[in-house]
Amino acid sequence: MRVGIVGAGVLGLAAAKVLREQGHEVVIFEGKSDVGGQVVTFDVAGEPLECFYHHIFTNDTDCIRYIEDMGLGPKLKWIESKVGILRKGRIFPFVTPMDLVKYTAIPFTSRVRLGLAALWLRRQHNWKKYEGVTARAWMERAVGKKAFDALWGPLLRGKFANEADNVGMTWLWGKVYLRFASRKGAAGTKEQLGYLEGSFRQYIDELARRLTADGVAIHLDTPVEEVVSEDGSVRGIRAMGQVHPFDAVLMTTPNIITRKIAPGLPAAYAEKMDRVRYQWATCLVLALDRPLSHIYWLNIADPLPFVACVEHTNFMPKERYGGNHIVYLSNYVPPDHPVLTMDVEQVFASYLDGLKAINPDFDASWVRQKWLFKDPGGQPVITTNYSEQIPDMRTGVDGLYLANTTQIYPEDRGQAYSLRLGERVARIMLEDAATIERTRAGAVGLA
Ligand SMILES: Cc1cc2nc3c(=O)[nH]c(=O)nc-3n(C[C@H](O)[C@H](O)[C@H](O)COP(=O)(O)OP(=O)(O)OC[C@H]3O[C@@H](n4cnc5c(N)ncnc54)[C@H](O)[C@@H]3O)c2cc1C
Repeated sequence: MRVGIVGAGVLGLAAAKVLREQGHEVVIFEGKSDVGGQVVTFDVAGEPLECFYHHIFTNDTDCIRYIEDMGLGPKLKWIESKVGILRKGRIFPFVTPMDLVKYTAIPFTSRVRLGLAALWLRRQHNWKKYEGVTARAWMERAVGKKAFDALWGPLLRGKFANEADNVGMTWLWGKVYLRFASRKGAAGTKEQLGYLEGSFRQYIDELARRLTADGVAIHLDTPVEEVVSEDGSVRGIRAMGQVHPFDAVLMTTPNIITRKIAPGLPAAYAEKMDRVRYQWATCLVLALDRPLSHIYWLNIADPLPFVACVEHTNFMPKERYGGNHIVYLSNYVPPDHPVLTMDVEQVFASYLDGLKAINPDFDASWVRQKWLFKDPGGQPVITTNYSEQIPDMRTGVDGLYLANTTQIYPEDRGQAYSLRLGERVARIMLEDAATIERTRAGAVGLA
């Protein structure tokens, strides 16, 4: 079979690998000038760095498998996490149960309730029972309003902004359950985060290189204009004004883009896709001449204009980045948020007070360089009963498939799950192709 894939992110590349291994002809169309999608990088003093902060957990086994298969295992470093929370102008470490005890920004009883709720959730294996309730309603009942407002409320707003109150409890369950499952030791007190020295793009580049060597065509700078279908079957892909015929097409683009390039989707399917909303991801990245704090991942539980501060060089050594201290200031915002219309200087100016809240000595003169990155498909909003809203990988048009981060559930989106999803959709495509083949052979036999 001849397969066209829209998008050379990790999902599209993983799908291509499975399909090519089974002897199929695969052509990938990528709108940008590089492979990697959301794991895109830029250069800091000659070192590639993710535009959007990235690390993995010990249970991201599919990502670890790819890194090892690409011969990069020795470069995967596991580092004890330094996580903190900014509350009432103070930075509290937030990794171990003891850190929770010391989280004096809230009353002792609230801390106990937070701890008990986390312990309870990490022992619950059945996410389905949380589907019908919002994270806010469940948590407020479990830990009380004060504790919710001091921890989970800001964290939910951090990821989902104006949609925070609509987020389903299953999403929050997944965060607690999987994060604890990734920890070492019976008490789950130690957490290690993984990073590929030299950036994650290396395993993606190597995967793309091997695919190309194996005959997969990857067309960069080639945005797909239309996925062409006719009489309920996919026919091909139109890019740069030219139609390329395919027996099957896999779209790995976010729903918002997919809806524009695939006009032939059945109405009910398209309507289902439209129900999933996205928050944009935005990251202001700063190269500083000195550290901002001692924390790698700082959750912001005060009303600041950004929701997380990720100081990459409290994780990887600054020497890799020309001695610069790298800080990501992250925000997830709805599509009409003013930050999306601002340039890098305007965003920086609007974040200045927030930087001073983290470190009162901060001064704009510390900044050597700054960059701004935005992605419209940053985070699908995972609402209650989300499992009923997930669009199927088979779109209803014969030969046309969809796989993207909206189908990652109950886990939160991440490279490991995107890689796994890419392999899964490829296997579904193979099954369908085999069924068609059998039907054809049967028809020939009858004739
Ligand atoms: C802010 C942020 C932080 C993250 N942090 C982590 C982390 O710490 N750890 C982790 O494991 N994961 C993290 N992730 C998630 C991870 O990056 C994603 O799960 C994964 O990269 C998604 O891969 P994908 O291939 O499904 O989609 P994408 O990467 O979005 O790939 C889709 C591709 O389609 C292309 N495309 C779009 N339109 C067209 C068109 N018309 N024609 C052709 N091509 C087109 C795009 O350019 C893109 O390359 C993060 C994501 C974000 C946004």
